[in-house]
Amino acid sequence: MTMQELETRSDLSRFVQAAVERLQQSDPELCRILQDEYERQANSLTMVASSSIADPSALICEAMPTMNVTAEGYPGARFHAGCKHIDEIENLAIERAKSAFGARFANVQSMSATSANEVVMFSVLQPGDKLLGLDLDAGGHLTHGSKASISGRVFDAIGYGLTKTEEIDYDGMRALALEHRPKLIICGTTAYPRRIDWERFRAVADEIDAYLLADITHIAGLVVAGLHPSPIDHAHFTTTCTHKQLYGGRGGLILMGRDFDQTSPGGTTTLSNLIQKRVFPYFQGAPNQSAIASKARGLAWVQGAEFKEVAQRIVSLSKALAQAFMDKGYRVITGGTDNHIVVVDVLAAGITGVNAEKALEDCGIVVNKNRIPYDVKPPAVTSGIRLGTNGLAIRKMQPSDMIECVDLIHEVLRSLQQTTDTSYRLDPELRASVTRSIRAICERRPISTYPAPSSWS
Ligand SMILES: *Cc1c(COP(=O)(O)O)cnc(C)c1O
Repeated sequence: MTMQELETRSDLSRFVQAAVERLQQSDPELCRILQDEYERQANSLTMVASSSIADPSALICEAMPTMNVTAEGYPGARFHAGCKHIDEIENLAIERAKSAFGARFANVQSMSATSANEVVMFSVLQPGDKLLGLDLDAGGHLTHGSKASISGRVFDAIGYGLTKTEEIDYDGMRALALEHRPKLIICGTTAYPRRIDWERFRAVADEIDAYLLADITHIAGLVVAGLHPSPIDHAHFTTTCTHKQLYGGRGGLILMGRDFDQTSPGGTTTLSNLIQKRVFPYFQGAPNQSAIASKARGLAWVQGAEFKEVAQRIVSLSKALAQAFMDKGYRVITGGTDNHIVVVDVLAAGITGVNAEKALEDCGIVVNKNRIPYDVKPPAVTSGIRLGTNGLAIRKMQPSDMIECVDLIHEVLRSLQQTTDTSYRLDPELRASVTRSIRAICERRPISTYPAPSSWS
């Protein structure tokens, strides 16, 4: 179909319009909640580092009739008929994933980064084998060996940590690797504001003949934009989700660079073939084809000119945000940031992470409580908050806006009266006035890719 035919036929826009109308009429209860959520996002300042504001062109792919197709298998080798276009979509997603990351291999079927990580672990490890991952407290992810996840139950997980200056302790990691000789080393983080030195990890992995998994879920967008070094040819496997910094639908990717055709453990196939088999049928059945279409769209968008600017803004806003907190006397973990993440020690200001999170949410500022290095509070309480700028960058905020945001955050935290670690009082007038200011900022800096809610006009 040509572009002109596409425009005149426009069956998809009629489908979407009719679908929304049908939802309004047949299920007003659900429709009202969905509308409320659209408005909540428009009216609040979302600074959750693990979220973003997906491009609407990626979101709409999730609503397409591709969902109706059951397509177990891979392009050209399906267990069902009717997959011609499904194959085209998946091949497009694979090509775009490879070009975005300069990868030699991409599997786009994982439903999440969690399952992508599990696929890699179960490809190269046997139950009881050792793995070495960054501790949760140090900014690692649950799937990197925490006892709360299968990764820390089925495998014998050892954790490395941070130095006194709160940066990854590469020497300590190497010492642990030499002592325990794990079969897999995992790098990549969820609350770490600094650059990661992939080469140093690979050098250690090579020293002990281990595999290296780089989980770039948080920084995938900066990697595509060239604002963070890429692990693709340093790690044997690179995983990411597509909904944090790739601004696409929910799901995971497994990527490989120069090691893609290395022989698998046991020598029966290649590493990349092994990954294919572990995704389907070992862990999953039919993939979510609409999510794959959405991944394809997000992957194209992050390679475009618009995203170059967004990525630069993510970093400049983050640096300005960290500076604004420090100017107000807050302790910022590592004293700054190189990526989109800022972690603030709010307990040093007398407030627990959970109370700060709740009080800020009362005022339309969405951040999340987070443990800080050597945290003395349990995970449900924490001593810190983690902020991120993925959502602010889509609002085309300027570094100077970060001062205003931190002023408002400071006003809330200063006025909060903490009664216990998990309860507080906040003056209703202050809450109302900060909420008004946040709403004004949101209207002044609307989500640039979404239509404003009708309640604004
Ligand atoms: C969020 C996150 C994950 C899990 O992503 P899901 O797609 O939600 O499962 C994995 N690894 C890291 C580093 C993360 O930050």
